[in-house]
Amino acid sequence: MTDTIFALATAAGAAPLAVVRVSGSRAGESLMALTDRPLPPPRQAVRRTLRADGEVLDQALCLWFAPPASYTGEGLAEFHIHGSQAVIEAVCAALTSYARAAEPGEFTRRAVLNGKMTLTQAEGLADLITTESAGQRRLALSQLHPASTAAYQAWSETLTGLLAQAEAVLDFPDDEVVLLTGVMADRLDRLRDQIEAFLAHSIDGERWRAPLTAAVLGAPNVGKSSLVNRLAARPVAIISDQPGTTRDSLEARLDIAGYPVRLIDTAGLRDTDQPIERAGVARARQWQADSDLRLWVYSADQPPPSSAATARLKQSQGTDLFIVNKIDIAAAGSLAAWPEGFIEVSAYTGAGLKELTRALDRIITRAAPLAGTAVIARARHRAALTRTCEHLAAAKAAVDAVLCAEELRAANRAMGHMTGQVDIEAVLDEVFASFCIGK
Ligand code: GDP
Repeated sequence: MTDTIFALATAAGAAPLAVVRVSGSRAGESLMALTDRPLPPPRQAVRRTLRADGEVLDQALCLWFAPPASYTGEGLAEFHIHGSQAVIEAVCAALTSYARAAEPGEFTRRAVLNGKMTLTQAEGLADLITTESAGQRRLALSQLHPASTAAYQAWSETLTGLLAQAEAVLDFPDDEVVLLTGVMADRLDRLRDQIEAFLAHSIDGERWRAPLTAAVLGAPNVGKSSLVNRLAARPVAIISDQPGTTRDSLEARLDIAGYPVRLIDTAGLRDTDQPIERAGVARARQWQADSDLRLWVYSADQPPPSSAATARLKQSQGTDLFIVNKIDIAAAGSLAAWPEGFIEVSAYTGAGLKELTRALDRIITRAAPLAGTAVIARARHRAALTRTCEHLAAAKAAVDAVLCAEELRAANRAMGHMTGQVDIEAVLDEVFASFCIGK
């Protein structure tokens, strides 16, 4: 018998509706008590008057989920009530006779403990709730899909099989030779190869949950701020023909190819004696080093950049874009002198902006996780898989059966830490620390 918990499942604040969920052994009792009626048929919405101490609290839509066919796997009641603070407080107060307020993530935690979803699916769910853009939503959904956990599950089973075999060898030491040279060594290698290949080719989901950064870089006055304002379709930066106006780094949020991008307008790169401007330039250099993408801006009323910049273009591996701005004031025929690959735009007239957006779209799409690409959702997962591989390598190198079994046990623990099959309470604490209440 588990204790019973309740929480507001919808966001706090005035809204037309609010949903309060109750889960646990007394959930059904709370539903019957507040409605003063028997339980409705499972999964069927019924309209009921909620009362406590003879006082009417609200007219609500009520649902009953009989165990185990509920979100948590326990008996679960849902009250869809009116979303005012007074109603929510009254209903929650009435529920305290049957349940206690839930901890953050406690509903999902119970779902994991009752086998309703895997830990990695629970993490996907957490991501889905906080997702900002379409690309992130796709990523979160891919984690929720059972297929994405299938590989983890299969590896885990292979590993358990290997461990069982190693333990058996310990019990029957005469077969030790088989352990070190036979089928088992092959299976061990194959498992490690598979996990290592996965680690090498998968994309870090964590990386894609945070917005990408794109630094707009270049000499003062080439039109960086004007371009940022154009791309953001709103004034973010102050524009002036005084060189060195942008001393701090300003930013605009864009949605490119379904991913959130922070476009950073930086101070113009030049040598200067002005301390404030110098600090700005230093910060710009930092953005240059730290950003995912770089947009190098040049001005068409100045001579084309040196061959060094052109060489950089060739080495940039597709994360740098080279832009020549102010083509509206370029001397006739002068653009022909610019190296190939420069995107010609005018922040002033808007010419070339479409091509620029398309180029940005292309680099992000190329780097973004595609549907079907393996995604390692969390750094936690990558660390656990890396540790698993290390122990597998050590097991292979082990000189005797005892050491081999020891390493396999450690590999199994590392793998289990990811899927939540060992240290479940500790892993759950770690994962659900970031959940919101009511989930
Ligand atoms: P930043 O210092 O690189 O950020 O450049 P700004 O965006 O502040 O622009 C510097 C000056 O160039 C301003 O006077 C802008 O109006 C002007 N400017 C920016 N883009 C263009 C353009 O495409 N065409 C023309 N003719 N002027 C531009």
